[in-house]
Amino acid sequence: MLKQVQRAYNFNAGPSALPLPVLQKAQEELVDFRGSGMSVMELSHRSALYEEVHNEAIRLLKELYKIPEGYHVLFLQGGASLQFSMVPMNFLQAGKSAGYVMTGAWSEKAFAEAKLIGEVFEAASTKQENYKRIPQFDELNYDKDISYLHITSNNTIFGTQWSQFPDTGDVPLIADMSSDILCKPVDVEKFALIYAGAQKNLGPSGVTVVILRPDMLERAAKNLPTMLRYDIHVKNNSLYNTPPTFGIYMLGEVLKWVKDQGGVEGIEQRNREKAALIYDAIDASNDFYRGHAEKDSRSLMNITFTLQSDELEKKFLSEAKKAGFVGLNGHRSVGGCRASTYNAVPVEACQALRDFMIQFQKENS
Ligand SMILES: *Cc1c(COP(=O)(O)O)cnc(C)c1O
Repeated sequence: MLKQVQRAYNFNAGPSALPLPVLQKAQEELVDFRGSGMSVMELSHRSALYEEVHNEAIRLLKELYKIPEGYHVLFLQGGASLQFSMVPMNFLQAGKSAGYVMTGAWSEKAFAEAKLIGEVFEAASTKQENYKRIPQFDELNYDKDISYLHITSNNTIFGTQWSQFPDTGDVPLIADMSSDILCKPVDVEKFALIYAGAQKNLGPSGVTVVILRPDMLERAAKNLPTMLRYDIHVKNNSLYNTPPTFGIYMLGEVLKWVKDQGGVEGIEQRNREKAALIYDAIDASNDFYRGHAEKDSRSLMNITFTLQSDELEKKFLSEAKKAGFVGLNGHRSVGGCRASTYNAVPVEACQALRDFMIQFQKENS
């Protein structure tokens, strides 16, 4: 029996909502994990009990995301932001360059970090259009001999998302999937490396998931500080040093919850339903609400929109806050409004937001 608890309509961009049953289970298990008389946080990371938690999370992610045989799953620290550096340090080869597809603020950060390491170029950019769309495949410009092509699968701040991924052949495709990993099934085989901070779709902050194609290890640089080497983390099953054990436990519980929702396929269906509720309210508003993203680039995870004036926007955000909605302010760099509808955000929260938007329009037009 679930206890009745007061939960916010949480549309935070990250860290963000976690599934209530996962929080409640963690609470139940907190002081005595599986009869150990300790919490997960107090277990040795070398104990059999912790290893079970660790390996179960890896196994479940492989199963749910249909990760091809042989790919490695790593749990690292330093967030997606450290991956911005680790990727070029490991894979940007001397005398070669790497292409970055610029689709928003996070692409820019990834690009800037890689530039500190070696030669990089923009393989495409929609910056001129204020990042309101994802480039078409035929806009991507790169040579076959580059070290890798980097994309951001979902642009958290601008609210755009790749709906399909290019076939890059022999060029390793690397993706920052921090804000949409596991929101829908993906052909993992197309990617040489996927990384994601956990705090949007997978669990609490502090864990970074890396999915790595095995052949990438051979080309990974070996003359790096130990903690920055993917091969070291692979060899040690992400237990080279103390991993963020509690975060990994939570991530495992979130994955069990995803499985209970019908797996990633079930989650996708729910996500489409959730996003449609809000996009429909925008589209039916006669321009009272205006979506930032072009329709075919719209994100399932971050819905960005503006109102007709700053004044009206302020009023919308302040009334939404009073009505119990959290996190609807757009990112400080772009303004406007943003509803982040990550996997764990319930359909009911999206219905409530849709109703609120319709009501607010009625009262203010
Ligand atoms: C949130 C986010 C990041 C930053 O993640 P950290 O874990 O805070 O470093 C990077 N890329 C994308 C697409 C994000 O949404």
